[in-house]
Amino acid sequence: MTIGVLKEPAPETRVSLLPEHLATLKKWNVNVCIESNAGATAFANDDKYTEAGATIQSRAEILQSSDIILSINTPDKSEIENLQSKIVLGVYQPLFTAQVMKDWATKGLTVFSMDMLPRTTRAQSMDILSSQANIAGYKAVLTAANLFPKYFPMFMTAAGSVPPAKMLILGAGVAGLQAIATAKRLGAVVEVFDTRPAVKEEVMSLGAKFVEVEGAADASKAGGYAVEQTAEFLERQKAKIAEAVAKADIVITTAQIPGKKAPVLITTAMMEAMKNGSVIIDLAAATGGNTELTKTDETVIHNGVSIVGNSYLASTMPSDASKLYGKNVLNFLQLIITKEGAINLNFEDDLVKGTCVVHGGVITNDRVNAIING
Ligand code: NAD
Repeated sequence: MTIGVLKEPAPETRVSLLPEHLATLKKWNVNVCIESNAGATAFANDDKYTEAGATIQSRAEILQSSDIILSINTPDKSEIENLQSKIVLGVYQPLFTAQVMKDWATKGLTVFSMDMLPRTTRAQSMDILSSQANIAGYKAVLTAANLFPKYFPMFMTAAGSVPPAKMLILGAGVAGLQAIATAKRLGAVVEVFDTRPAVKEEVMSLGAKFVEVEGAADASKAGGYAVEQTAEFLERQKAKIAEAVAKADIVITTAQIPGKKAPVLITTAMMEAMKNGSVIIDLAAATGGNTELTKTDETVIHNGVSIVGNSYLASTMPSDASKLYGKNVLNFLQLIITKEGAINLNFEDDLVKGTCVVHGGVITNDRVNAIING
């Protein structure tokens, strides 16, 4: 059995597997083929893969000879045409690309999308959303620190004192919690909003203040994912957020709802009330953004406030991002590859079933089917 790793298109810098991941696959008698230069942007060159036992091939050879193809981003449409019964595994955001998945189903391939993994305790070691969001949260704070024209920590110096930066974080999921921890280490004062009251304790244990808004929709039955809020709750939340935004030097927004456009939590008027030189890092940019002015993969400057919509923050740390992503993938592959190196798709396993989007000529995922069927 052969696993092939494709080179990702720019601006992606990550790669599905690093040389350090290959030893486990070797133990399972799996051959690994790497597209030439696939790891270069993650600082893993072809020699390192060869030393670890992989074969370097062209893209065409990999697409033809591999049983499982690893590609974080969506391969080209023309490449999908000829994959027939092969397995493709990556992060294809099927809740936003349901029609593409429908098209892929007609080609006969099997598609696993790691962003569909159920969020259970057993799934934690395979959760690419968590490992990559952790990096995004960390890098969001460092990006803000670079753009912010002042210090983060408080200083009392002979030349005068400097107050600490005030940071507001909207959404205390994986990215938000890492952003709090990083901002606290740099000495900022941090306030946090989330619609899940369950995160209050975690937020406070990291040394930040949790701002409560009563009446949020219950997300405890959404399998670890956030749920949409009522218009009435969002109005009340908006009033409290407006007060907090006006005081903040830096805002990091992370609020996302799987399969839906991100909620707009910060209006233009709120941003116009911010101080000159303030910075907003919008980690929900790829799904529409949490501010009215966010532009995906651009930095907008409005009234002296920088609004950063970089949706590739995990890619700015390609070595560790690939290290963690690859380990997540390896842990998942263990569910679909036997110790003898054969493919075994056990759809009785909730993680295999939940992550599979396309198999046997049809869309197998209930959440994607629900979108297609309206
Ligand atoms: P996410 O990226 O979908 O959302 C980020 C945060 O934004 C969430 O905390 C959400 O509650 C919040 N949010 C949504 N709408 C909001 C609004 N209008 N205002 C303010 N905040 C809003 O979430 P995520 O970080 O991927 O995961 C969220 C949680 O899921 C984690 O903190 C964890 O508890 C759980 N989780 C479980 C597992 C597992 O068990 N395998 C894995 C990952 C996450």
